[in-house]
Amino acid sequence: MRESADVVVAGAGVIGASVAWHLVSLGVRDVLVVDRAAAAGEGSTGRATGGFRAQFGTAINVRLSLLSREKLRRFRDEVGTDPGYRPCGYLWVARAAAELAGLRAAQRVQHEAGLAEARMVDPPEIARLNPAVRLDGVIGGAFCPTDGFLRPLEILRGYLDAARRRGARVRFGEEMRELVRDRTGRIGSVRLASSEVACGTVVNAAGAWAGELGRGAGVEVPVRPLRRQVACTEPCSDLPEDMPMTLWPGDGFHLRVRDGRVLLLQPTAGAADPFATELDEEWLHEVRSVAAERVPALAGVAVDRARSWAGLYEMSPDGHALLGRAPGCENMVLVNGSSGHGVMHAPALGALAAELIVHGSTRSLDAQALRPTRFEEGSAIQGPALL
Ligand SMILES: Cc1cc2nc3c(=O)[nH]c(=O)nc-3n(C[C@H](O)[C@H](O)[C@H](O)COP(=O)(O)OP(=O)(O)OC[C@H]3O[C@@H](n4cnc5c(N)ncnc54)[C@H](O)[C@@H]3O)c2cc1C
Repeated sequence: MRESADVVVAGAGVIGASVAWHLVSLGVRDVLVVDRAAAAGEGSTGRATGGFRAQFGTAINVRLSLLSREKLRRFRDEVGTDPGYRPCGYLWVARAAAELAGLRAAQRVQHEAGLAEARMVDPPEIARLNPAVRLDGVIGGAFCPTDGFLRPLEILRGYLDAARRRGARVRFGEEMRELVRDRTGRIGSVRLASSEVACGTVVNAAGAWAGELGRGAGVEVPVRPLRRQVACTEPCSDLPEDMPMTLWPGDGFHLRVRDGRVLLLQPTAGAADPFATELDEEWLHEVRSVAAERVPALAGVAVDRARSWAGLYEMSPDGHALLGRAPGCENMVLVNGSSGHGVMHAPALGALAAELIVHGSTRSLDAQALRPTRFEEGSAIQGPALL
């Protein structure tokens, strides 16, 4: 049976859900969200650790965070759910001059982009902000008190439920299998597992699978998966629940407390199969010893193998989101490639994507820097990288 929709959103993760809610809020009547998973949260969103920060090294990422933060503060009133935003802070701990210089350079960008409260901190202040950190070799750091935590699944479910209440159709177990282009190059319809749907616009919000979905329509979307692992400790009451996210920029090791356990992370180059999400036993062992060395209170705390997990980041070539019409396919809108920051930026990206679709350009902020054509134009985004 042939049906139709003004906008079909591929992917009901936090990004697709935010796009759908913002579309219906702007008056788009006929929005269909499809996801091949059986239920919400089976993609990367359900695997995120729930960090929120505005401390980035590029103006566009700082601005996305500030817009998201504004929307998180209003979330309960506007969307009807508690997004779990808790400003416990992000504390960066430098042990080398180059790391400290990187934090300082990023902070200049942050201040210029409007994040006034981020500040450099010395070792005594680091000790006050997080007394659990071993200070040997620490020369300084950076801290922002309005960074902190959120609840990824609450945000996802909040947006989906609110979009449904305003008339959006949301279907799980529904794969987008083919995007059928007409003679003008536009996508005229999409073939789903159960039907063919004529559509005005297709939103590619397929997260780590965005590249694959694009290829199905002959569109090159430069997003690739990258495994990210999380070691979860056994219950541990030695560190407080409101401890700031604490990060060592030298090697990216970071940790936070969530629901009475400590989550330990450290980036790796990924798995041989880029979509694999198995845990690497050697990594689990190593990250635990790094944790014990930097946070002595964790020396006797074991990792709970059964509660540890891995998921996929959706990497773009410059580590920033893609937002805009796909090159060569005018009615496919890309909202993907957030490179591991998709939950915190979903409120902003969903709003901007909806504005682009409805008004033809973004209104909440200038998102030109995120245009998907930037790579072929030689305008990839650059700036001090903070993880
Ligand atoms: C371990 C880990 C920790 C993280 N921590 C954080 C954090 O602290 N803060 C933060 O902001 N971000 C974090 N992230 C990143 C964050 O999870 C992602 O950026 C975000 O979830 C991306 O949202 P999404 O909606 O694009 O992707 P997803 O949630 O993966 O949703 C994409 C959906 O598309 C569906 N799909 C794909 N192809 C098709 C198709 N052909 N047809 C139908 N459906 C399709 C999938 O089933 C999936 O549900 C973390 C990620 C990981 C793995």
